[in-house]
Amino acid sequence: MMQNFEFVLPTRIRFGAGISKEIAAEIHAMGKKRPFIITDEGIVRAGLADRVAKALKDGGFTDYFVFDETEPNPRDTTVQHACEKAKEWGADVLVALGGGSSMDTAKGAAVLLSHGGSIHDYEGLGKVTKPVTDLIAIPTTVGTGSEVTFWAVITDTKRHFKMSVGSPLIAPKLALVDPDLVQSLPPTIVASTGMDALTHAIEGYTCALAEPITDACGLYAIRMISENLRDAVYGGPAVAVEARANMLLGSLIAGICFGNSDIAGVHCMAEALGGLYDTPHGIANAILLPHVMKYNFVSDLDKFAEVAKALGERGETLSMRDLAYASVTAVLKLNADLNIPSLFDVGANVEDLPELAKRASVNVSVGSNPRRAGEAEFLTIFQSAFLDEEHAQ
Ligand code: NAD
Repeated sequence: MMQNFEFVLPTRIRFGAGISKEIAAEIHAMGKKRPFIITDEGIVRAGLADRVAKALKDGGFTDYFVFDETEPNPRDTTVQHACEKAKEWGADVLVALGGGSSMDTAKGAAVLLSHGGSIHDYEGLGKVTKPVTDLIAIPTTVGTGSEVTFWAVITDTKRHFKMSVGSPLIAPKLALVDPDLVQSLPPTIVASTGMDALTHAIEGYTCALAEPITDACGLYAIRMISENLRDAVYGGPAVAVEARANMLLGSLIAGICFGNSDIAGVHCMAEALGGLYDTPHGIANAILLPHVMKYNFVSDLDKFAEVAKALGERGETLSMRDLAYASVTAVLKLNADLNIPSLFDVGANVEDLPELAKRASVNVSVGSNPRRAGEAEFLTIFQSAFLDEEHAQ
């Protein structure tokens, strides 16, 4: 019998080329006066902060502040600093412009502005208890879906651990999802953030908390991403522009999927890697995705067979088991085509694997993996990923 479920989407979404130019009208409509933009240096260099600033000026805002100190795998100290700056400046609305790092920094700052304390006080699910400072998210990568999720992933600098702060209350009020802003992304970042989005869709669809609406979103997103990722990375301008727009839509829908179901083993392991080595999140997910799928696929052959089909595998002549396994080989092919680096390349060493497995086993999403996995199983998966790559050298 189907289990009971709840589906929540507090974020209003506007999608379309040029939609970020509506920022001023949206802020006026919210009755806010002092927008505080949270972004990073790469976005500023790519000219995207200027574009949003121009849209604000054109819409009558002379007063706004650009905080560009976000780093990849954003730190607790940066969240604190962003909050202090925003408070000092009298911000009444935050605008997150960037990838997951800028959006999560802004979510964290919104929590601290409204609740006080330190971001560590809100680690886990449901510690945020009242509405936070209004937040508008403008994503510029094709990966995290953070523009619609209830999560902020922040690096605890003392523990070298990526902690999660989760509550529907921290979801952005509005997401302006503008394909024009992902055209400047370097191909390597399209590849890594695109694999992040694929991981969200696959884990969101196959995890223990999946339900019918997240299933629909997950399969749609897997298909969208697999049909567009290679073109978005390698295509000439005629195909890449549309493929990148489709990737942005795919990552948004993958965010809606996993935001309401969950992520699972890949993220537990990838966040351990990111916490220890500062590995870019999409790369960490891409490396581990096929290895975790290889462990998980036997737990739900039907669903992994559907994943294989959505990834473009043909199943007419295959048994259900072989079709389910084809989902693993399809991801390996994608990683190879996208030149995803190995565990070696990101600096992992074999002595650290037990510590990584231990950290993975305390991740907030461990219970959502479709097949039971704890410290021992994560260690085996890390070792098999490590060995596979050693042989491939
Ligand atoms: P990112 O935000 O760290 O950005 C990566 C790099 O891309 C940066 O150097 C940035 O300057 C550059 N960049 C971004 N957009 C650009 C553009 N349009 N043109 C040129 N350069 C651009 O990358 P990300 O992968 O989007 O975010 C990763 C973070 O998000 C990790 O910390 C991860 O844990 C977190 N995350 C959060 C959620 C969530 O639901 N909150 C989900 C998944 C991942």
